[in-house]
Amino acid sequence: MWQRDCETMERDQLEQLQLARVGETIHHIQAHNSAYYKKVGSPRADSISSLDALQALPLLTKTDLRAAYPFGLACAPQSEFARMQMSSGTTGNPVICPYTRADISQWAECMARCFVAAGVTRDDVIQITPSFGLPNGGFGFHYGAELLGAFYVPIGPGRTLLQLQLMRDLGATVITAIATYPLRLIEAAREEHFDFRQTKLRVGIFGSEIWSDQLRARIQAEMGIETFDIIGMTETGGVGMGIDCAAHQGNHVWEDHYLVEIVDPKTGAPLPDGHEGELVVTTLTRQAMPLLRFRTGDVTRVISRARCECGRTHLRIDRFKGRTDDMIIYKGLNFYPSQIEQLLLRHDGVAHDYQIVLDHDAQGNETMELVVERAGFLAPLEQERIHRELYDYIGLSVTPQFVAAGTIARPVGKAVRVIDRRKT
Ligand code: ZN
Repeated sequence: MWQRDCETMERDQLEQLQLARVGETIHHIQAHNSAYYKKVGSPRADSISSLDALQALPLLTKTDLRAAYPFGLACAPQSEFARMQMSSGTTGNPVICPYTRADISQWAECMARCFVAAGVTRDDVIQITPSFGLPNGGFGFHYGAELLGAFYVPIGPGRTLLQLQLMRDLGATVITAIATYPLRLIEAAREEHFDFRQTKLRVGIFGSEIWSDQLRARIQAEMGIETFDIIGMTETGGVGMGIDCAAHQGNHVWEDHYLVEIVDPKTGAPLPDGHEGELVVTTLTRQAMPLLRFRTGDVTRVISRARCECGRTHLRIDRFKGRTDDMIIYKGLNFYPSQIEQLLLRHDGVAHDYQIVLDHDAQGNETMELVVERAGFLAPLEQERIHRELYDYIGLSVTPQFVAAGTIARPVGKAVRVIDRRKT
């Protein structure tokens, strides 16, 4: 463990610490940004006498953060800023997350904990493939690796053949990436007759996209590595809010830095442990842009608040199932792309790329195409079976179109799983 005392703190102590830090965060907002303080309901710090009392405060949304572009929610003067990261969506202003020096230290600490939870030590060689730019991934891994004292290779995204070359020649033991990037590496490796088992690679730390358990199993089998699911986003201060440990029984959230709640995505009402809903995050130690009850849009549930096999006491949440804004509503059915992915990837004859295209026909009826890449030969009987499973498990009456591997366009960056033309 990186910080045993913090990571194994008894539950009641941990909650006392969280409560004290909620109070400090409210004070900090009140002292530095009166408009923001008003926006969160002008709470008196001493009125939050329990963690449940926090539920009386309003929820912050991504729209609120966009509306505050660029520094409307900042709680430190710009002269104290050390750097920023940015996330942009398809519409509207981007969200800018400024960092003070203390925020960078907090980030590094969280990231070092994540590396250690994934079994990474200073003797490892870490290949960092997320971007060193406005998105937060590359720098997050960089700060964590520096604090850990490991040798790291800051290659950034793309240049797949160089990635394989350096992985082999520099003896990389750990690779960090957005979750679908390993698929590109696997494809390139096949073409180049590159065998991951001939390298020293043993750990993959992936995140930033929804990746199903089935996709995970495939990546692990193809690359011969153990993978870890890292969480965190630009708004909350970047990647590293939590990760799964070697027990792989949910993702720990570093609760001395982050307080998480699960709410009903429709009503915003709090949900009990075990119930699936939207993840809401309050930052407890961030200065430049602290957040009170921020709706992340990620769909998950609290798995357990009990001590994990690994000894850590910080709660565990489930792997993200989807985002509230990528839930597909088609002919009255609600489902997430990850549900389709799980179903498809159980079949060996299916490759790992697929695309869902939603549209209207000439009569205005909703239509859905499901384009699925084959991995070599896919027997008609198996195609029929997939068709039937889509109906049996999801209720979806759609005939998949099976196409040759490589047919679906490979974007730079995150995979495009859904194209919805109904909105245009
Ligand atoms: Zn654990």
